[in-house]
Amino acid sequence: MNFIETRGNDGKMPKEVTFSEAILSPMSSFGGIYSPISLPDLGETFLEKHIHSSYKVMAADVLNEFGIDIDAAVIDEALSLYDHFDDPENPAPLCKVRDDLYVSELYHGPTRAFKDMALQPFGVVLSSLAQQRNENYLILAATSGDTGPAALDTFRNRANIQVACLYPDGGTSDVQRLQMVTEDADNLKVIGIHGNFDDAQSALKLLLSSESFKAQLQQNNIHLSAANSVNFGRIIFQLIYHIHSYLELVRQDAINLGDKVYLDIPSGNFGNALGAYYAAKMCIPVEKIMIASNANNVLTQWINTGCYDLRDSAVIPTTSPAMDILKSSNVERILFDLLGAERTKVLMLQLDSQQYYQLEPQELEQLQSIFVADYCDDVQGQAYIQRYFEAGYLMDPHTATCLKTYETCKTKPLKTIVYSTAEWTKFSPTIAAALTGNSSKDDQEALSTIAKKANIEIPIQISALFDKSITQKTLINQQDIEKEILDFL
Ligand SMILES: *Cc1c(COP(=O)(O)O)cnc(C)c1O
Repeated sequence: MNFIETRGNDGKMPKEVTFSEAILSPMSSFGGIYSPISLPDLGETFLEKHIHSSYKVMAADVLNEFGIDIDAAVIDEALSLYDHFDDPENPAPLCKVRDDLYVSELYHGPTRAFKDMALQPFGVVLSSLAQQRNENYLILAATSGDTGPAALDTFRNRANIQVACLYPDGGTSDVQRLQMVTEDADNLKVIGIHGNFDDAQSALKLLLSSESFKAQLQQNNIHLSAANSVNFGRIIFQLIYHIHSYLELVRQDAINLGDKVYLDIPSGNFGNALGAYYAAKMCIPVEKIMIASNANNVLTQWINTGCYDLRDSAVIPTTSPAMDILKSSNVERILFDLLGAERTKVLMLQLDSQQYYQLEPQELEQLQSIFVADYCDDVQGQAYIQRYFEAGYLMDPHTATCLKTYETCKTKPLKTIVYSTAEWTKFSPTIAAALTGNSSKDDQEALSTIAKKANIEIPIQISALFDKSITQKTLINQQDIEKEILDFL
């Protein structure tokens, strides 16, 4: 299976590329991204075949059906990273919360957020490709808190890969910062920036367009790649857990194979939701995919009105910061799949130049045949955290946004799967405040408040952070980033 460009081909780039080419250099003509030419049609037979399979066996078969140019041994090694999750047999457990409400917990990996589900195996694949080609890659990442730790963890000491990770100083939780600044491998560089996440991200963009920076990389024979979800190497591992959670519902006797379900997804860059969309097209019976947002509700407006509108919108900082995103990169792959490259190019270029686009009525109808959406502000989110805790389920503020969509968008008596993207340990101050009404002085106090109240233990991956020594001390201004990274290389 090969990959083509969402905005069509400019006559200079190759017309189609293999999976490994798409993940090593993810950018394509006219600023587009790569998408599969077509999806494997797995159907109900695939579900029947894997009803008793382990996660890894089912995952290997999905990847096999895609026909990607990665050796089976590399795929096996990549999937063996799920052995480091809490339960190697079931890295993404499905938890019953109410008769019609199940939560797929995607955060049981090393950094306690769902980014591990894709980045763990992705790290093996990328490093193996770089070694096979005898090439060196630099991964540049700007993080609001979850991608950074997960990218550092997966690339730690991996051959032919170096990572430089920018984070906004003061813009992440204590736990997220400690996960990054205690990394001590030689191939990892963590850089704190004076400013917010937007500043970190624009510093990264500036760097990527700097001619002197590119020339220096070329001189040192270093290629650039990306570990964010524009990279299809992440998306391919994300559609698998949606198939898994459907199969889990069948195994738990909650549904019969073939019954439709709702998938309810806390969305930022739309990678998780895109995985759900592909899984639904490939094999799982889905009534609607619910898109949950926080107060940054661009996606809600897009799905409800067909207008993707960034005019006079500024990012609103919320207690679910991984969803504080206005320009959601994987929406482009949905446009491409529904409307084709020509139309996608027109819409995306209009978004760039005029800050908005409006879908035609029949295009909106297509979108709404698959997606429904609503958004949940911080006050509502806190109330859900408290209410569900009292009913016996502890969740983080990103997951909580899904309870609003579950209440407002569900029109049929079908089961809903909410996708939980972070463990309570990563956003403990917000959760402690929701449960007790009081604010904590830091993460450590919030963690022990919650642990006591919920009678649970703080996982070792988190509690150990507070005793580790801080090895990454760089804290600089935007204009010094280029030099800092070149020195590191
Ligand atoms: C990254 C992230 C999201 C958003 O996921 P997308 O795939 O970008 O839509 C939601 N919640 C948490 C905790 C995250 O880390």
